Amino acid sequence: MRLMVSVEGVVQGVGMRPFVHALATRLGLGGFVRNDGRGVTIEVEGNAPQLQEFLADLERFAPPLAVVDRVHTVEIPPRHEPTFTITSSAEPRRRLALLPPDTATCADCLREIFNPADRHYRYAFTSCTRCGPRFTIVRDVPYDRARTTMASFTMCRACAREYHDPYDRRFHTEPIACPACGPRLQLVDRDRRTIAGDPIETCAQLLSDGAVVAIKGLGGYHLAADAASERAVATLRARKHREDKPFAVMARNLDAARLLAEVDHLEEELLASPARPIVLMRRRADARVAAAVAPGTAWLGVMLPYTPLHHLLLAALPGPIVLTSGNVSDEPIAYRDDEALTRLGDIADAFLVHDREIQVRADDSVLRVARGATLPVRRSRGLVPRAIRVPRPFVEPVLACGGELKNTVCVGRGDRALLSQHVGDLENVAAFAAFVEAIARLERLLDVEPRIVAHDLHPEYLSTKWALEQSGLPTIGVQHHHAHIAACLADNGTDARVIGVAFDGLGYGTDGTLWGGEFLLADLAHFDRLGHLSALPMPGGAAAIREPWRMAAMYVLAAGSSVETSVAHRHADRWPLVLDIARSTPLAPRTSSAGRLFDAVAALLDVRDVVTYEGQAAIELEQLADPTEEGSYPASCIESGDRFEIRAADVVAAVLDDGAREVPRAVIAGRFHNAVADLIRDGCRRGRERAGISTVALSGGVFQNVLLLGKVVDRLEAEGFQVLRHRQMPPNDGGLSLGQAVIAARRRAA
Ligand code: ZN
Ligand code: ZN
Ligand code: FE
Repeated sequence: MRLMVSVEGVVQGVGMRPFVHALATRLGLGGFVRNDGRGVTIEVEGNAPQLQEFLADLERFAPPLAVVDRVHTVEIPPRHEPTFTITSSAEPRRRLALLPPDTATCADCLREIFNPADRHYRYAFTSCTRCGPRFTIVRDVPYDRARTTMASFTMCRACAREYHDPYDRRFHTEPIACPACGPRLQLVDRDRRTIAGDPIETCAQLLSDGAVVAIKGLGGYHLAADAASERAVATLRARKHREDKPFAVMARNLDAARLLAEVDHLEEELLASPARPIVLMRRRADARVAAAVAPGTAWLGVMLPYTPLHHLLLAALPGPIVLTSGNVSDEPIAYRDDEALTRLGDIADAFLVHDREIQVRADDSVLRVARGATLPVRRSRGLVPRAIRVPRPFVEPVLACGGELKNTVCVGRGDRALLSQHVGDLENVAAFAAFVEAIARLERLLDVEPRIVAHDLHPEYLSTKWALEQSGLPTIGVQHHHAHIAACLADNGTDARVIGVAFDGLGYGTDGTLWGGEFLLADLAHFDRLGHLSALPMPGGAAAIREPWRMAAMYVLAAGSSVETSVAHRHADRWPLVLDIARSTPLAPRTSSAGRLFDAVAALLDVRDVVTYEGQAAIELEQLADPTEEGSYPASCIESGDRFEIRAADVVAAVLDDGAREVPRAVIAGRFHNAVADLIRDGCRRGRERAGISTVALSGGVFQNVLLLGKVVDRLEAEGFQVLRHRQMPPNDGGLSLGQAVIAARRRAA
């Protein structure tokens, strides 16, 4: 009996073929296995019980990086082959195979790198079927060495032997390389002159001496500096023009990470996971890290080495290093060699480079842990291009363009959605180019020509403008907060109707005002605005986002308070002017944003009057808050038409009263968080009364606040609500494109 077995999912570049070969050979079966555009095709021949065992073991014992989505079997005429072979890839008609993400160096490779007797000893590009670069080196699918940036390296005899040996760990490891045949490291100065000596040892020495070194990584260049050196980190900050936004650090191993932060069980698991993300954790008071690494925050982003290069470098250093995206300010991470040497020429003192090209840029991923579960903040290197299984299949391929800040794009086809790596804030030409590139790459990897283009409603977003320029394709505008809630639904694999709580910085509303404190009754097709925070003017528009004290002025006014605040004093010269501007509609768009409420309270508690990065005031307010505080402040709710409005200004009035009574700031900040959680619960109660639904989906950047998220989940669960929160996608605008894609698909189907 002969079967043709098609296996779909992440089955290429993960050691699937050697595994199938070994399995079939063990069972004495004939036939072959090969990669194709959909995944892996197997023809296998033997008696029925053998074949049954083969199919059972195929799924049960698949290699660690493989994700088997679907196995399809048909009987075909026998051919009586005596043995089982691996044949070369057939040219595909469609490319549906999914690529694995870049994966951290495995334990076996690591042993070889540190074993003087092994030919991979101290070799920075060691990899095998279980580890190494994937997404960032692939030019095209199906995944074969000729279609990666390794194509220009000819395998030496030793590598070729491993590559062709079905019993070897490196059988068909496309990035296979060794010191004799693979990429080489080089340390160069600003003028591109080679610096003598072992590149890694010399680089470690430079870092110890306080230098800033640009290091070519997997998805781009990083900038590195000694994390313990106040001077080195301050130099890096000054040259990079980055004022306060925290830097991540790389620690040698888990033990070293535990000296930097309080690491709980799940955080440990995430740190050591094959994706090796940056994990945001509570910094230890005695951590030996310069204050300039993460000024004004109690947290620290830590990651562990994920390439042999990082392992070798960290082993040569006494302590952790800062490792931050190689860019100036908010531009995308540099990843092309010439470009990096030019753009980073004024920042880095030296460059640790190599001759394996990076095909696509990918920043490090960032995760937090909230109430015992993962909370993604940035989904990128190591996690992309893992597909999301959507609750309803896409009838036609969809391209979704995402938002403006923390942009990602998404392509949906069949029952899968593929999100791009983090593209960044579409505020400059370089970021916009990265956006266009990311779209082209996703379309190529999935071999998709989108039939629908989804976009945000904001007319000024570059992603919206781009979408509307795509001639000949139907476009679907999706309201920002509806997209947030749909992303949360897709993240949880459901298409249920829910009460959606979308709290974020800003998003364009259907009435032309800026929303951001929304209670929606939503499913994937439609939404109704059930209620929202009362809107207030945002004096000066974007200026009010950069300067939280302006929102403080608005809330003090709305609270009807005569309390003299220290913010008013600090900004006495402009305070009346701002109140004046607030009366002018064009200069002061109205917003119901929850993010702006956090800004206002942060300013009133003297946490921050001016921010240098998005969300900074709210992040610092979260850290100030006493997590054990149980007091709260009430907010009144008014019904206007068929909508409710929650007056957050009541909360601010109570904040001012407590301030006047000199209640400690940490207590006020704690009460404020409780008040926001209470008003969210009240809004959900009203939603349940109106719609008879008791499932709540929480989305929007405000839910990156772990303290608030915990309080909200506690309150809602105590009242019998089922709560959906983000697990795979960030709640911030990085998840928007997924929400847009699933909504557009549903609207077209309807
Ligand atoms: Zn390995
Ligand atoms: Zn070799
Ligand atoms: Fe948003």
